[in-house]
Amino acid sequence: MLKKIYEENLDFEEALTLASKGNLGEICKAADRVRRKYYDNITTFSSNVFIPVTNYCRNRCGYCGFRREPGDPCARIMEPDEVKTVLVGGKEAGCTEALFTFGERPEEKYSEVKDWLEEWGYSSMVDYLYDLCLTALETGLLPHSNPGILERDEIEKLKQVNASMGLMLESSSERLCGAGGPHEYSPGKLPKRRIKTIEIAGELKVPFTSGILIGIGETLEERIESIYVLKELHEKYGHIQELIIQNFDPKPNTLMENVSPPSLNDTMLTAAITRLVIKGEISIQIPPNLNTQYERELLASGMNDWGGISPLTSDEINPNHSWPSKENLEKITREAGFRLIERLPIYPKYVQKNYISNIVAPHVHELADKKGYRKVEG
Ligand code: SF4
Repeated sequence: MLKKIYEENLDFEEALTLASKGNLGEICKAADRVRRKYYDNITTFSSNVFIPVTNYCRNRCGYCGFRREPGDPCARIMEPDEVKTVLVGGKEAGCTEALFTFGERPEEKYSEVKDWLEEWGYSSMVDYLYDLCLTALETGLLPHSNPGILERDEIEKLKQVNASMGLMLESSSERLCGAGGPHEYSPGKLPKRRIKTIEIAGELKVPFTSGILIGIGETLEERIESIYVLKELHEKYGHIQELIIQNFDPKPNTLMENVSPPSLNDTMLTAAITRLVIKGEISIQIPPNLNTQYERELLASGMNDWGGISPLTSDEINPNHSWPSKENLEKITREAGFRLIERLPIYPKYVQKNYISNIVAPHVHELADKKGYRKVEG
């Protein structure tokens, strides 16, 4: 069996048996071996500014501490000048990525959002985002947008001004959208709608980030099914550059505030099984700020990317978890026996494959070295 898990494809049943009956130490050892075969000792990260364009959202996920209702003094849409200030600060701080995050399609639910957008000359959030991305490019940062589920024409439009885009699958389980589930009030979390968006991004050759959110009530079987859904989408279109394993973190004043988060072993097992299932094609990312003090264990579980960290802005989705500094992340990674390299929001192989529009290409080439990682200045 060990030889099979290093070298051959695991089918769903084999992966499920391994995850439910296997020895965690052995599974991680095998995942580490696969990871080193494809990535050697390289672990990557990107340096970003986190721009929460709006916290209005048409969905209402049971674990979300980010979303705000109209009338809440913290509900907001960032104005163009506010976004510009963050972008300029990010450029000055040495970042390369403008990470635009959103509540999903809020203008469809809230007239005040629609009115603001109209006042600024936009008919939708996507139109507004397009211009914010242009501003990011003019400032010298590469946009990576996560606006939620999108239609084909919207992805086509945003591809013109984004280096890469993203949408978490979270889970392929429809059960979680049923009564009492975390996605009961979230039409945008219906797996088939999310899969459709990821699929269209593949057809349009958008370098793409996706991932799963673990510990929100899914079974182990459903979790592994989600990994296979993403694997199959990538096998068909070749566009998924990274798969995030995000561990659920309970937030106060949410429906799931008293639900226990997944254990470290659970996160390690998920990362390792994911690595053994997808082998080397896709980077596996685990957010370091949600796993402080456990970085060494996670590095030994087959992951190879820390995702975006910011010297300037906080993680507004997880405001109690601050980013590590680049220096600290480098130290932790080195002490675990790996080498930290800074990448751009678009991964090297997509820089070289020219998955990018004519508008974005010169900005990417300005920042990329010959291998497609971030160019080292000086
Ligand atoms: S998790 Fe995202 S989609 Fe769900 S309510 Fe919060 S902002 Fe909206």
